Amino acid sequence: MRSSRDAPVDRMGVEKCYDSSAPPQVMRYQVLLSLMLSSQTKDEVTSAAMLRLRQRGLTVDSILQMDDVTLGEIIYPVGFWRNKVKYIKQTTAILKQKYGGDIPSTVEELVKLPGVGPKMAHLAMHIAWNNVSGIGVDTHVHRITNRLKWVKKETRSPEETRVALEDWLPRDLWREINWLLVGFGQQTCLPVNPRCRECLNQDICPAAKRR
Ligand code: SF4
Repeated sequence: MRSSRDAPVDRMGVEKCYDSSAPPQVMRYQVLLSLMLSSQTKDEVTSAAMLRLRQRGLTVDSILQMDDVTLGEIIYPVGFWRNKVKYIKQTTAILKQKYGGDIPSTVEELVKLPGVGPKMAHLAMHIAWNNVSGIGVDTHVHRITNRLKWVKKETRSPEETRVALEDWLPRDLWREINWLLVGFGQQTCLPVNPRCRECLNQDICPAAKRR
């Protein structure tokens, strides 16, 4: 069901938002920034905001020099854009002062940055550092693994789901489960009215609606 890789996440997800020809440190900063912009925001909107930022040269220094109003105008309409302006500025200042303009290379340090949660930290480790530290569980991965009962008992938060999945899922699948299920959730196993009739899981899925 994901073989055509044509979901929004495949075309406009965080892995497509950074400048892969930029110096590694700049690339890693752009990965972190796109993750911060992406929470509660559609891939299309995050991708467009990243493009506007990159057109002005997206680096730690360019963001520190930018005033908050301008940053807000550029990232609008990403979800919670006012808070994100604040978090981006605070995090970027910390990166400059404490990490020489790079991003930290551990989950423990990443989650201490303002506006960075566990999902973002694990995805930053995958994408920016090519280091699979844990499963990136967003709302799609959380919902679908509960529908399919891939967690022993129902979990109430993405963080609980991450721990439950990591308990049994082979480590070499931790990276791909994110983009596979995010795209599946965007195209088939929708939050409301999942397309069960066209889903190849319908005979094995405990949550399948068969009418
Ligand atoms: S059968 Fe329905 S609920 Fe189950 S995985 Fe497929 S789309 Fe989702």
